[in-house]
Amino acid sequence: GYNYGLPMSTAPAQSRQAEEQRIKVCVRKRPLTCAESRRGEADVVTTTGGECVIVHEVKEAVDLSQYILQHKFYFDQVFGEESSNKEVYQQTAYPLVQHIGKVTCFAYGQTGAGKTHTMLGSPAIPGLYALAVQDIFAHLSATHSYQLVFVSFFEIYCGQLYDLLDHRKRLFAREDGQRVVHISGLRDVRVDSVSSLLEVISRGTAERTQGMSGVNPLSSRSHALLQIQLRDSNQQIAGRMWFVDLAGSERASDTKEPDRQSRMEGAEINQSLLALKECIRSLDQEQSHTPFRQSKLTQVLKDSFVGDSMTCMIANISPGHTATEHTLNTLRYADRVKELKRQGGLRGRRRNRGKTAASPKQNLFSSTTGST
Ligand code: ADP
Ligand code: MG
Repeated sequence: GYNYGLPMSTAPAQSRQAEEQRIKVCVRKRPLTCAESRRGEADVVTTTGGECVIVHEVKEAVDLSQYILQHKFYFDQVFGEESSNKEVYQQTAYPLVQHIGKVTCFAYGQTGAGKTHTMLGSPAIPGLYALAVQDIFAHLSATHSYQLVFVSFFEIYCGQLYDLLDHRKRLFAREDGQRVVHISGLRDVRVDSVSSLLEVISRGTAERTQGMSGVNPLSSRSHALLQIQLRDSNQQIAGRMWFVDLAGSERASDTKEPDRQSRMEGAEINQSLLALKECIRSLDQEQSHTPFRQSKLTQVLKDSFVGDSMTCMIANISPGHTATEHTLNTLRYADRVKELKRQGGLRGRRRNRGKTAASPKQNLFSSTTGST
């Protein structure tokens, strides 16, 4: 048997969502922390019915009396505070891991909203990285596949790339003649078990926090990108998956930054998050309409916005009343990403397209596996 030291996934083998949706937008509310409860933070977010989230905003009238404004949003899926990483995984990344060759999963939200908890988790509560790799290994074993799993891990800070698996070595992304974006010198490491993946990731994460300075840790100001690649024995890429732990979205909206460096960081993050939104929105349009050159983040993820790729965004929100403004900003951002589906497509194009079935289906576990 295979002992990864992790509970096995119990998700259903088939998921309609992966068949039907190329862009899935979910919301995850975290519970109040003990510290927040102790200082009397009120929980102003309710989640109902699995698709709805309501923010109760406390407002002050002209006569200084207080009233509550309710903001209601609907998403593909809303995870309440009781949801576990495993549950979130099963509804978000798992369908992608099962079906698709080019998939990307984003964690968006203000600092402290639960992005890293969702993506990385902890030794006791594995996050999406580990759960995905666990399923990948389980599948490779079950199908006696010879495919190998490689990971790379880097961060984008102020528009520059740093290799987290190679002593924060500066990296450069460039487009080749075929308009494929390469990151030259990016280190990738072969992993052969979930525990070796976690080892590699914890090494990388340590590199991230080393740069910590000031009030905000560096990790809240940079995007962390984990890529998992499946390769055939002849080194051909058979499938790939990105997990992106985005920079804190509050930095995009905070205009009261104290110093020049922070304002620059904020502007850069703002730019990249706006570009990201537009790139996801244009997933179903022709390549020339994808504004991926507008930020380093979207440039390196270019492949995620063209062709038959699939994307899932998890918008993480804090429950506390002092976070209301940031929470609403996060929900509005996520709502914009999702808007296309409601309207039937930007400029009406998407309406005329078939569902994903129209594009050739690629499987993360490519033709060398599972066909017998
Ligand atoms: P971010 O990466 O968005 O800045 P973190 O993932 O570091 O936020 O979460 C902030 C704190 O909240 C951490 O202490 C984390 O353990 C806790 N936390 C986040 N999400 C959850 C959750 N779903 N359940 C329990 N604790 C959580
Ligand atoms: Mg984090």
